[in-house]
Amino acid sequence: MSRIALVTGGMGGLGEAICIKMAALDYTVVTTYSPGNTKHEAWLAAMKEAGYNFHAYECDVADYDSAARCIAQIEKEIGPVDVLVNNAGITRDMTFKKMDKIAWDAVMSTNLDSVFNMTKPVCDSMAERGWGRIINISSVNGQKGAFGQTNYSAAKAGMHGFTKALALEVARKGVTVNTISPGYIGTKMVMAIPQEVLDSKIIPQIPMARLGKPEEVAGLVAYLASEEAAFLTGANIAINGGQHMY
Ligand code: NDP
Repeated sequence: MSRIALVTGGMGGLGEAICIKMAALDYTVVTTYSPGNTKHEAWLAAMKEAGYNFHAYECDVADYDSAARCIAQIEKEIGPVDVLVNNAGITRDMTFKKMDKIAWDAVMSTNLDSVFNMTKPVCDSMAERGWGRIINISSVNGQKGAFGQTNYSAAKAGMHGFTKALALEVARKGVTVNTISPGYIGTKMVMAIPQEVLDSKIIPQIPMARLGKPEEVAGLVAYLASEEAAFLTGANIAINGGQHMY
């Protein structure tokens, strides 16, 4: 029986590439969409047309009860989650001077509380079954900070603290916990940045002189989920074209 991979925010730029990669590796792929996302049926239909039979569940990852309900439904209808990819995330960029509590709370709850909310209902079951993979999608800006992103940088850095602590707790149970920190990836969100800004401000920061591809991040997720990565835990793997090395 194929393993079950749950990718939060699978209808976004990175998430879709991760879902496709995991499906190609024969995982049963489940994803989530936000309450109010009216495009999930069209997305599922388009994916089906392309040959991918994904499952999708409504879930507000920022909300503890919503996450618990979503996982309970997935376990009942599909089965226990073997690989959890905490990928859903948002930005609410503004300088700290302008940052209000709403922007702070939205980013902390969607990007960091979500990791607790989604991991909590699956982690014990992974440990009991003696196998599991938890993969947290952070950001280069959680490693180096970014102007206008005190909220996002704090949340993304917090994800890795979570990764390291939980990795210790479940290391003997066959469950690995890792962080991936992508740099600029050519998703729709990044491609919406005006070309002159990309050319003058963003690409010059990247030694490889290009944006990353969603498929490149998806390949790393697939590796971390694999048997070969069983000895790799508590790591934060940068994938940023050399933009930030540490
Ligand atoms: P997108 O904006 O394309 O996708 C984000 C996804 O998160 C969407 O599918 C969205 O679902 C989901 N989401 C947002 N809020 C919630 C919520 N409350 N509950 C459930 N789902 C939610 O972003 P990317 O694909 O570009 O980014 C994916 C991850 O990668 C994020 O964590 C981001 O921070 C990180 N990242 C991205 C980089 C990039 O260059 N693109 C670089 C570094 C990190 P819905 O549409 O249904 O709301």
